[in-house]
Amino acid sequence: NADTTSTSDAKSSPTQTVLVAVQTPVHSGMAQLLSYAHPVALAPGTLVRVPLGAREVLGVVWDGELPPQQGGDGLRPVAGVLDGLAPLDARWRRLVAFAAHYYQRSLGELALSALPPQLRELSAEQLARRLRRPPPNAAAVADAATAAATITLSAEQAGATEAIASQPGPFLLFGSTGSGKTEVYLHSVARALADDPRAQVLVMVPEINLTPQLQQRFAERFAPLYGPQAIVSLHSGMTNPQRLASWLAAHSGQARIVLGTRMAVFASLPGLALIVVDEEHDASYKQQEGARYSARDLALWRGKNAGAKVILGSATPSLESWHASDPAVGRYQRLEMPSRIGAGELPRLRLVDMGQQPRGAVFSPPLLGAITARVEQGEQCLVLLNRRGFAPVLHCGACGWKSDCPHCSAHQVFHKVDRTLRCHHCGSTQRVPRACPACGNPDIAPVGRGTEQLEEQLAHLLRNVITPERRAARVARIDADTTKTKGALQEQLAQVHAGEVDVLVGTQMVAKGHDFRRITLVAAVQPDGALFSSDFRAPERLLALLMQAGGRAGRDARYVAAQQTRPELWVQTWHPDHPLFAALRRHDWPQFAAQQLAERRQAGMPPFAYQALVRADARTQEAAQGFLQAAGDAARGAQLPGVDQVFLYPPIPLAVQRVANVERAQMLIESASRTALQRFLAAWQPLLHAERRQHKGLVRWLVDVDPQGI
Ligand code: ADP
Ligand code: ZN
Ligand code: ZN
Repeated sequence: NADTTSTSDAKSSPTQTVLVAVQTPVHSGMAQLLSYAHPVALAPGTLVRVPLGAREVLGVVWDGELPPQQGGDGLRPVAGVLDGLAPLDARWRRLVAFAAHYYQRSLGELALSALPPQLRELSAEQLARRLRRPPPNAAAVADAATAAATITLSAEQAGATEAIASQPGPFLLFGSTGSGKTEVYLHSVARALADDPRAQVLVMVPEINLTPQLQQRFAERFAPLYGPQAIVSLHSGMTNPQRLASWLAAHSGQARIVLGTRMAVFASLPGLALIVVDEEHDASYKQQEGARYSARDLALWRGKNAGAKVILGSATPSLESWHASDPAVGRYQRLEMPSRIGAGELPRLRLVDMGQQPRGAVFSPPLLGAITARVEQGEQCLVLLNRRGFAPVLHCGACGWKSDCPHCSAHQVFHKVDRTLRCHHCGSTQRVPRACPACGNPDIAPVGRGTEQLEEQLAHLLRNVITPERRAARVARIDADTTKTKGALQEQLAQVHAGEVDVLVGTQMVAKGHDFRRITLVAAVQPDGALFSSDFRAPERLLALLMQAGGRAGRDARYVAAQQTRPELWVQTWHPDHPLFAALRRHDWPQFAAQQLAERRQAGMPPFAYQALVRADARTQEAAQGFLQAAGDAARGAQLPGVDQVFLYPPIPLAVQRVANVERAQMLIESASRTALQRFLAAWQPLLHAERRQHKGLVRWLVDVDPQGI
């Protein structure tokens, strides 16, 4: 195949054996590294194309002991060498090898999935052509005039920046919402880049939709110094050619700053000097399919391994990071920035006791009054509800029918805009029936509410409210439904920034990270569900979400002063006495964290214990649980290393037990020792594979190390 042959292919007989990491099919039980023949030795990290079965695939030359009895004869030859590209360096390979080992995946899978998809498809020649072409101008930059130069750091910002410059870290930058953490990142990045002309930095954010604003701020600051090509993004919302261009720019060292989501943690960065993980507490850093890695945890490992500094930043740090930065533990250095920029106030909490409100009201009269007053003063409000659609279920009062998904143990959600019932788990969609499918009753009704309904009701309730510009109040909604098309979210956010929207209704998508300037009131209308969740992380998540959401209010101290207003966070609840709200009122993350950590220590839960989940999927719940039970029994029977230091819980169904006609079960594995857990999991892998063969492949399983939700 002429397409895949490169200059280094010789016609002479192959003499060298090279080990290559390739992506072998999951569950094939195939070796992680395969041997191929090549006329000359190839440096580890070289990208090659090799035959695998009937296909030809991309692989990475790996170092390591050659397996015995594999000489040069009988081996299939390397098909092509992508020699226009520098080999992936040893640090990158160590990162990938560590991640594969830690998260119980094959090396080949991890190595290959860490590379941009287009690289896997490109022949050596196509790649050579690509490399000759200058990369597209990724950063959309304004002109060179930087507002940045005029910014004077606050005393807290200066202190944090100094500490980062002079000490090794890793750092936990614990800064209130609006304390100016981004400015600290920018200064730390500036120093790292100025210190060494080859230095590169990696800046991670939890969500794609936070990248444009960040890209803008970094481009404004650094494009005038290093050129627009020096700043690239890496996230899954990019096209494959864009991703390849960014990846190549990072790999070649041309990009000095890589901004990205969790996947960016695997970018090839030969000059890596600094890693920033913004909103480090965010659950999105945990990959939830394939290799279930935590990009935050890998960032810490990578930083240590590469001698790069690591800054984790958050107003509501994960309890894991909080604990690690406890001076008595001392693994991370905690840097605190409690004050808002410009001496701005954090929002005041206004709790509404829903037990004292008219029955059935979505918006309690005091909250509605507060929103109305803000809109009349020209201020913006943000209303949060973590459920999209119009109502979570349709219900027939006559016979009890509910809009259940035929494929999942979940309801189909009523979406009024297009009159559909949609399952948010499997995606199945149907038209709303005219009458109850079970009894013919024409009066089927929505139960509960989602963002669509809030938007509709608010628009109605505010229909006579007039803004200072003498126009009618405008309500808009931002959630996964309104932002499906590319660029939709940015467009909608731009409308909010431009003041064209008075009240924004949305899911947690808009609660995090955004730097809104004119929002002074944030309301969570129905957060109670999370107060009584069985997930031990639920209180931590809820308080973080409410504090982050509240953090969108009153970010511009000058605006707040000019308006003579005060930022407020409103929460409607049936449980106003819940201790979580007391912590919220005081903005007291440290006190809340201390109390939660004391409970977790007592109960032997993370971060005082280490966990893994084994998930099994099958046609029946019995088969799924049976598989887990048998695999657990086999582990005990075989006296696997570490088994006496781990606790295997009984298998249970997942909270949403059936999705797309697949029954799902899980088994929790826990240990006080991370090493013991790791040793046990590694030794268990072959038994799990064997057990699957016993089940004739009818069960699929996966391991989730350090799971987020259990
Ligand atoms: P955080 O990430 O901590 O929530 P940001 O970094 O977004 O906060 O900063 C909040 C706002 O304050 C931003 O609009 C930012 O431009 C501004 N800001 C940050 N530091 C300063 C400073 N030293 N002087 C003036 N404005 C600042
Ligand atoms: Zn009915
Ligand atoms: Zn479904």
